[in-house]
Amino acid sequence: MLKVVIVGGVAGGATAAARLRRCDETAHIVLFERGPYVSFANCGLPYYVGEVIPRRDQLLLQTVDGLSHRFNLDIRNLSEVIAIDRHHQTVTVREVQSGRSYEESYDLLLLSPGAQPIVPPIPGLDEAKNVFTLRTIPDTDAIKGFVDQQLPKTAVVVGGGFIGLEMAENLLRRGIQVTLVEQMNQVMTPIDYEMATLVHKHLREKGVRLVLEDGVQAFAKKGRQVILRSGTVLENDMVLLSIGVRPENTLAIQAGLAVGKRGGIVVDDYLRTSDEHIYAIGDAIEVKDFVTGLPTQMPLAGPANRQARLVADTIAGKKKRYSGTLGTAIVQVFDLTVATTGANEKTLRNLGWPYAVVHTHPASHATYYPGAQSMALKLLFHPETGALYGAQGVGREGVDKRIDVLATAIRAGLKVFDLQDLELTYAPPYSSAKDPVNMLGYVASNVVEGTVQTIQWCDIDEVVAHGGLLIDVRESEEVARGSIPGSVNIPLGDLRQRLGELSTEPQPVYVTCQVGLRGYLATRILEAAGFHAMNVDGGYTTYSSVHDKIQIH
Ligand code: FAD
Repeated sequence: MLKVVIVGGVAGGATAAARLRRCDETAHIVLFERGPYVSFANCGLPYYVGEVIPRRDQLLLQTVDGLSHRFNLDIRNLSEVIAIDRHHQTVTVREVQSGRSYEESYDLLLLSPGAQPIVPPIPGLDEAKNVFTLRTIPDTDAIKGFVDQQLPKTAVVVGGGFIGLEMAENLLRRGIQVTLVEQMNQVMTPIDYEMATLVHKHLREKGVRLVLEDGVQAFAKKGRQVILRSGTVLENDMVLLSIGVRPENTLAIQAGLAVGKRGGIVVDDYLRTSDEHIYAIGDAIEVKDFVTGLPTQMPLAGPANRQARLVADTIAGKKKRYSGTLGTAIVQVFDLTVATTGANEKTLRNLGWPYAVVHTHPASHATYYPGAQSMALKLLFHPETGALYGAQGVGREGVDKRIDVLATAIRAGLKVFDLQDLELTYAPPYSSAKDPVNMLGYVASNVVEGTVQTIQWCDIDEVVAHGGLLIDVRESEEVARGSIPGSVNIPLGDLRQRLGELSTEPQPVYVTCQVGLRGYLATRILEAAGFHAMNVDGGYTTYSSVHDKIQIH
């Protein structure tokens, strides 16, 4: 009988155990979990603190007894695996409560120990009693207990990633004034800067004090003061440290397994480590980026669950490959949905890959049907082949389904041209006959086919500063509400009659409008008249999300 020992009993470990049992009724499956609970809803923890999820037991998806009984598993919680002896194929287990240690043998070992919050040695941290991290149910109990009993009025959330943003929202929901400190110039680093600026604006509108490009230098007064590198002192009642996670690799390193540059356990396509008897999955492993093919860390629940199923199949004799992680992710930030898939522009630029970008601002559904909300979408692709690299979306409604469709398209190897052909659900309450994904396909195909040339929001100021002509083709009332500095207003309807005014202008002539559509039409008119024209991608909406030096008439 095959004996499989699993380390870690939450997303990856519990899923693998259950799948393995479904594939192999006879295997002896032993699952060790250091904490008191298995298979809990770690993604729901911030919402329990915020009381959106009202009851603690709603987080406990399975009990040890329930899971053991249903899948005939030997589950040992409060049991930490502290060493692996690869030579004898045993693990050493320490019972957390009694401190007793013993050895357990294995035929195959599966590691799914996850990732732990990064806690740097910040001066004053040891004396602080009000600094929390969030990973487990006990962490959540500590935070919720503090909020319920100490009634903090102010909190500092350090780190603007997924957990930081969710906690900022949920602490504010509990009536706490929140300051969010992020050392980068943006929150949510998987999306690009101009998309993140929409999130910044929304956070501030909701009352979060956002401090960017500053980090924590020290804690003082037992954590009641957070001292930032800039010298700013933040008085506060509690602090949440959410500056990222690092793979739990202590066991793997101790056992001499290969780990990557960022500490993730190295696995092959079958999720096997450098030891043929040991597999690893989840946040602890280094994955292959599906788009770039490079090794990376992507601590997300979907990939952990997928890897768990595949590895169980492989262990049960049906060898299955893991094809890499796209990094499809989503977060709610108050009324906004922020979602991403594939490679972002920062990554492509750093790699030196050729890429093109389009920004669109479509409505979530037909604008004549009540409740339509505009969203910002960004698509990245190869400028000649149209191969899809990545997509990002920020908006109040409909962002999730567009990014999900695009994630599916990337995985299927579709190109920008294929997005035009996708037949997606449409009725006025849900979408438009040309869905925002189709529209991205149209706009991006125009770019690849050379029907339109575009310039990005970050480059237009320099062009204008060097004497380039920028025509704003919106109506004068729209221009009065703000425009790109140095632009000249010629409404689209007047353009054909006023072409003569442009004959002595330097080429190319640049065009902008509200979201890029009228600008595109203008470039067609200009090109037909013999001008070389370029459209500001995403129009004034993308530009103004980033620039505050807006020209108001
Ligand atoms: P985990 O689920 O963390 O399980 C690892 C387990 O191993 C832990 O319980 C740990 O106690 C145990 N363990 C570690 N070492 C040992 C040892 N030596 N012996 C015994 N047991 C050990 N992802 C999303 O995609 N979407 C979200 O919305 C989302 N929200 C999140 C919110 C929070 C607050 C957190 C903390 C994470 C969130 N994640 C989210 C990430 C997601 O939960 C992880 O990607 C996923 O749980 C990884 O699964 P895993 O099995 O690798 O690790």
